[in-house]
Amino acid sequence: MVESRGGGWQPIRKLLDYPGRESQETTENRPCKECGREFEAAVTVYALRSGPRVIGPKQCPECIERLRAEEAQRVAEEAEEAGRALLVAQARVREQWVESMPRKFWESTFESWQGRSGLTGVVRECQKYADDFSLEDAHGYPSLWLFSETNGLGKSHLANAVAHRIFQRWDGDPGRASCPVRYETGPGLLVRIRATYDRGVSGLDTEERVYRSLRGVPLLILDDVGKETPSEHTRRVYFHLIDQRYQEDLPVMLCTNVPGERLEDLLGPATADRLYEMTQGGQCHTLKGKSFRETRFT
Ligand SMILES: [Zn+2]
Repeated sequence: MVESRGGGWQPIRKLLDYPGRESQETTENRPCKECGREFEAAVTVYALRSGPRVIGPKQCPECIERLRAEEAQRVAEEAEEAGRALLVAQARVREQWVESMPRKFWESTFESWQGRSGLTGVVRECQKYADDFSLEDAHGYPSLWLFSETNGLGKSHLANAVAHRIFQRWDGDPGRASCPVRYETGPGLLVRIRATYDRGVSGLDTEERVYRSLRGVPLLILDDVGKETPSEHTRRVYFHLIDQRYQEDLPVMLCTNVPGERLEDLLGPATADRLYEMTQGGQCHTLKGKSFRETRFT
């Protein structure tokens, strides 16, 4: 752009083309800047006050084509490299999430279950639960209640398989990743919270911190619920945990071998009511079969 006498701006081409000045399309032989070979270039000659000015390609058509292809390939390679780097970074994030779970469950996936007894019944339901879980927004997703009468049927394996599956499905931005699943055992949480009472006046703050650390996590897994003794303390803690999920409209996966009636006794009626609602009318998935330990040792 060039400033005109009257002020304001107008395109150079217009200035050059005003009556009396001319531009002319023609061809000229010139050496290619890339390969040095002479080529016929389509050029425009502008008649300027200072003399003719020739505008046209500096490279021969072959070189232009080759440079374009090279540039396209470079861009594609860069994109591929960036894609590879993203995959590596995502894999690292998933690995960190797996390592945030108890070591003994690092291999507890649906794939490793499949080798055990096949994906049937409740196992398939758990997998579907993990497959349908929204990684963008878990609000409003139903809770999952997993029950087995005896221990050793693999509830913990399934709970961790759900976590693994959700981790596997994640393919977000590693720079803004936060772990979508938190695995806790009921008794473990109770012990941690009880331990905060021994820390004197700041004790209550610290208990609050335990709840806060679980707040907002898209899926909270509470395993081994019912292995603790029913008490006012147990009921109060479970109420806080479940009520927090209920208020946030976020799901909980609850694994227990305590049947419904006794579970209400353990958790208290208010907590049981919320759980009933969160599991769409108390839908309980029952894991049946011989205990893993039984099949192994008998
Ligand atoms: Zn050339």
